[in-house]
Amino acid sequence: MQVIRRLTETTINRIAAGEVIERPAAAVKELVENALDAGARRIEVLLTGGGIDRIEIIDDGCGIAQDELALALERHATSKLSDETLVRITTLGFRGEALPSIGAAARLTLISRPEGQDSAYRVHVAGGTVGEVAPASGVKGTRAIVEDLFYATPARKKFLRTPRAEGEAAERAVWRLALAAPGVAFRLVADERVIFDMPAQDEAGRVAALFGRETASSLLPLEAERDGVTLSGLIGPASLSRATMALQSFVVNGRPVIDPLLRLSLRLAYRDVVPAGRHAVAALRLTVPDEALDVNVHPAKTELRFADGNGVRSLVIGAIGRTLERPVLLANAPVAMPSLMLRPPPGHDYAKPTPSPQARGFAEAELALAAPPSARSFVPLPPAATPVHEHPLGAPLGQILDTYILAIAPDGALVLVDQHAAHERLTEERLRTEFEAGRIVTQPLLVPVVVDFSPSEAVRLLAEADTLARLGLEIEAFGAGAILVRALPAALKNPDAAGLLRDLAEEFAESEAPLALEARLDAALARLACHRSIRAGRRLQREEMDALLREMEATPRAATCSHGRPTFLRLSRAELEKMFGRRGI
Ligand code: ADP
Ligand code: MG
Repeated sequence: MQVIRRLTETTINRIAAGEVIERPAAAVKELVENALDAGARRIEVLLTGGGIDRIEIIDDGCGIAQDELALALERHATSKLSDETLVRITTLGFRGEALPSIGAAARLTLISRPEGQDSAYRVHVAGGTVGEVAPASGVKGTRAIVEDLFYATPARKKFLRTPRAEGEAAERAVWRLALAAPGVAFRLVADERVIFDMPAQDEAGRVAALFGRETASSLLPLEAERDGVTLSGLIGPASLSRATMALQSFVVNGRPVIDPLLRLSLRLAYRDVVPAGRHAVAALRLTVPDEALDVNVHPAKTELRFADGNGVRSLVIGAIGRTLERPVLLANAPVAMPSLMLRPPPGHDYAKPTPSPQARGFAEAELALAAPPSARSFVPLPPAATPVHEHPLGAPLGQILDTYILAIAPDGALVLVDQHAAHERLTEERLRTEFEAGRIVTQPLLVPVVVDFSPSEAVRLLAEADTLARLGLEIEAFGAGAILVRALPAALKNPDAAGLLRDLAEEFAESEAPLALEARLDAALARLACHRSIRAGRRLQREEMDALLREMEATPRAATCSHGRPTFLRLSRAELEKMFGRRGI
């Protein structure tokens, strides 16, 4: 039998570190939160090796007094929690866990000087062993330096991803906090590259700096209130969507959160206008009475619980709906106007609990894409020749909902083709063939296009310039945050260069390094293809339908789109007979 013994403080802290500091991004987040809680006006974040090697955070906040430096490193020591019922939490931190956790898993140096103290003092802790507090040089504020993260907890170190992936997650954490606190100047440097350097600004200025000026210029302001909860922010118009959720930010009572309820609400609000697989752009800020919010749900504090989740959902969906419906918007919404068909019936209130809101939300989003509301249900073609044997996908009869081609095969089978999915596949195959044969045919632009990005996006894209060149896309740096496009793949005809590059930037950001070059090229090819493909909702001529069907017959792997969905359905004579009970089942 083993005897029961108490764990040492160091072991306890290492265990806690596993929860609070799961990766460099979490350490960065905790330290920047401390700087914000200290009332800093300016915060500088320096990362080396994705934050695994080194993280340094410099703030000009209130500092830590000499005689409290050692205490700050102790577990459950905090200056922030005055309300021990945990109801009124107005600071980002309150658990007193971050510094001891980081100190247990890494080497942490704190150098701090409050106003009025004759000099700065420093303290060092490594793997949980705290050193002496000693005088140091330093101006007012605090410097926290973290080195060799997880050197003392090798079990955790094994699960780290590449410096690139960890660095991106850490940058993303700073990005979120910088959006939450626009009034604080932020500078972020990763491996000596300045990712951003922003003065204190207003909300719109900060969104422009972090979303990219061009994207930000099309955003619409929004403001609403309901039962003491206020919502404000900037949202994308119906015509704006992105390949990922990277440009979605939610701030609740000053705290950046990744909250499933808010994400779903945003998705539902845009269900009629943003195609499935694409994502709205939004920077939203909610202010909720403290007693209607529980932030103590998870040690990382990125999740929260609303007392009235349904109320919050109605507020978000309602406010976005009204903003998108403003008349000026309808004029420039290219895809679809908010659909009547999918509107909830009059009197329906989103606040009412429904069986499975999540499932319903996604199903509705799919429907909205499948049936552009302005589409004619069926546009027949004048009769043509009977389908011939060499054409197994048959002769087109017409177009359903401006989205599906209806055809009749030589053997009498009924064929339905998803025009967008099919065309996307064909384009991808063509690009792939060109790519495998050497190099994709490029088309130099007569007038090079300049596209604006957020600085970090631009840096990321330029890092992939060689990869993109192999795909026929030639880009180069054009000042901070801007990229010059010199040539595009010829197969794409005239794509929207800005939209294309933006999607690629997100594709590269999303993909978890170390994605092999091959996988990245694959993803990029699929993105390119998507960009030149016939949209769902476009009326087609007979020639176009014919050409599409014939090309599908001639193309390998044309039966599914690049996302694995079918590009066409076939209802054969045998299946018809089975369904009508003409044949034994
Ligand atoms: P918490 O933030 O939950 O209180 P931490 O372990 O992150 O716990 O920090 C412990 C304490 O150290 C804080 O409550 C605060 O008093 C002090 N502290 C930490 N970082 C800073 C900073 N950058 N500036 C001033 N005080 C700080
Ligand atoms: Mg803290």
